[in-house]
Amino acid sequence: MTSHRYENTESFARRMDAEDALASFRDEFLFPPSPSGEPSVYLAGNSLGLQPKRARQYIQEELEDWARLGVEGHVHGRHPWLPYHELLTEQVARIVGAQPQEVVVMNTLSVNLHLMMVSFYRPTRERYKILIEAGAFPSDQYAVASQARFHGMDPTQAVMLLQPRDGEATLRTEDILETLARHGKEIALVMLGSVNYLTGQSFDLAAITRAAHAQGCQVGFDLAHGAGNLKLALHDTGPDFAVWCSYKYLNGGPGSLGGVFVHERHARSPQLPRFEGWWGHNKATRFQMGPTFDPLPGAEGWQLSNPPIFQLAALRASVELFDRATMAALHARSQKLTGYLEFLLDQLPEGFVRITTPRDPAQRGAQLSLRFRGEPKQLLQRLGDAGVICDFREPDIIRAAPTALYNSFLDVHRFVKTLEGHARG
Ligand SMILES: *Cc1c(COP(=O)(O)O)cnc(C)c1O
Repeated sequence: MTSHRYENTESFARRMDAEDALASFRDEFLFPPSPSGEPSVYLAGNSLGLQPKRARQYIQEELEDWARLGVEGHVHGRHPWLPYHELLTEQVARIVGAQPQEVVVMNTLSVNLHLMMVSFYRPTRERYKILIEAGAFPSDQYAVASQARFHGMDPTQAVMLLQPRDGEATLRTEDILETLARHGKEIALVMLGSVNYLTGQSFDLAAITRAAHAQGCQVGFDLAHGAGNLKLALHDTGPDFAVWCSYKYLNGGPGSLGGVFVHERHARSPQLPRFEGWWGHNKATRFQMGPTFDPLPGAEGWQLSNPPIFQLAALRASVELFDRATMAALHARSQKLTGYLEFLLDQLPEGFVRITTPRDPAQRGAQLSLRFRGEPKQLLQRLGDAGVICDFREPDIIRAAPTALYNSFLDVHRFVKTLEGHARG
């Protein structure tokens, strides 16, 4: 499955880092200190990405311009606030493989999911179901259930769940396609994640989009764990919309802004219902303050409000790094890092840990979800003492995600050495 020859030694990990063209991006980030004062082994970038060093400067500039210029900062700032979000558009488009017109940074993920469903979940008597994963992130489950209720339906009727086969932890593409073939005519919207937050499984987005469109369904993806992690090609893949947050792999900071993709085919679709706000209005006439909404073409036309500049500034520091590194190179590095993590985990004492994420690199991103034998509290304590930060989900899952921008092979090695110390007592 992988062409790399890995070795279970610290010197090998150090050699991999020394030979790595992307290793220097690590220096662009601030690592929380461990109890010993050393930088932590930070494997929780799938939950909250680290702070790019430049984020402080970018926010500082906007604080200064606000102090210096007041309202004039909208047009006379070093980076005028009126079009500030446009500073991120091209980089974000490259991260998700879209055309610039297809993306916009705005709001937060769950809000955007609702806004997209206003436009793309249009149930009729015959076609009214929403297809999601049984184990979808809770907010996504609440969002689709409440949309069904909003349209006067019972979510237990309208929301259709994809379940893994008995005894299996993850979904099979063939089963998803089979469900679409069998029930496609009842399904109004297919709404799947690109990497499941709990299992780490990623889906074949292109095959699912093709099959769903062939049945006449609309397709939306939640890329919360995919953006900045997978190599996405949203334009070519062709879903109708996608949404993501930017505080996970995209390092935009706590509560950072979300992103939205609306496929080019909907760029000028006045017949699509949407919730309207002045920031989605034609830029040339916005300040004439007329009573009639004239939507901007493309994803920008879904904007409601003028956006929070400090959050955009923080995110700009990160997306610039993605642009320098390129998603293609980052994804290749990510597969090596996660492959190394898998290789080392497989050498731990028999029965100590089970990897529930698919073994096939094409069906996962950076994250491996791990189930451990024994009491997780003690293990978490041990990891904390050793300066390893990863995250725990009830009842017994540890998620470890070496991220391609800032984790090293040595990080991965240190994490597994800590586990080994625990396994051997
Ligand atoms: C992280 C995550 C969310 C969080 O939603 P917010 O609106 O950003 O708080 C929602 N859905 C998925 C799949 C996630 O992974």
